[in-house]
Amino acid sequence: MRLLSLTLDGFKSFAQPTTIEFRPGMTGIIGPNGSGKSNIIEAIRWVLGEQSAKTLRGNKMADVIFNGSEDRAPLNRALVSIAFDNSDHYLNSDFSELKITRKLYRNGDSEYLINSQQVRLRDIVDLFVDSGVGRESFSVISQGRIAEIFNGKPADRRAIIETAAGVSKYKQNKATAEKRLDTTRENLNRVNDIVAELE
Ligand code: ATP
Repeated sequence: MRLLSLTLDGFKSFAQPTTIEFRPGMTGIIGPNGSGKSNIIEAIRWVLGEQSAKTLRGNKMADVIFNGSEDRAPLNRALVSIAFDNSDHYLNSDFSELKITRKLYRNGDSEYLINSQQVRLRDIVDLFVDSGVGRESFSVISQGRIAEIFNGKPADRRAIIETAAGVSKYKQNKATAEKRLDTTRENLNRVNDIVAELE
């Protein structure tokens, strides 16, 4: 799997549609202070499903939409697309190229797409779970996050190690199964009550 390109359109300072192609040999993005380097990193987190506005240096999610400049009116929609070469099928998909897109409108509507097909956020999270690339992964580390890891509580550090070790997927599956078991137990109790009433 290889990162091919990133398109930002109306995301933070990127009012104009902008595509960055990650050709072999490219190792960095440089630019003056305030030119949008961190916004590019945040776009990657966002398109992979980031749900915390704070992590993206905002108060609310709509803060990622271009909010105007001296010579440009604010926009109504932010769009980010990220494309991967998946010819080795490292990501669990039959597609040899995958384009993930996230859109957010000012009225709060949002859309997630995989290769132009509308999907749920869950589908995107599942696609990247334990791949080392998802929204919680350590392939994208924002400024301040390293200090946060060092100064974090032992339980938080454990969660980080579990994610890196690939255990988190099984923990998630276990939590889902336990929730289903609880619901089934509740239903069973209700049925038993009804049976007892009828007897
Ligand atoms: P540094 O080198 O100082 O860390 P940087 O290149 O990482 O800077 P960013 O922090 O990515 O720069 O970009 C900051 C710029 O993005 C600021 O000028 C800020 O006003 C602009 N910006 C952030 N959110 C929005 C938004 N929603 N609409 C328009 N501009 C925005």
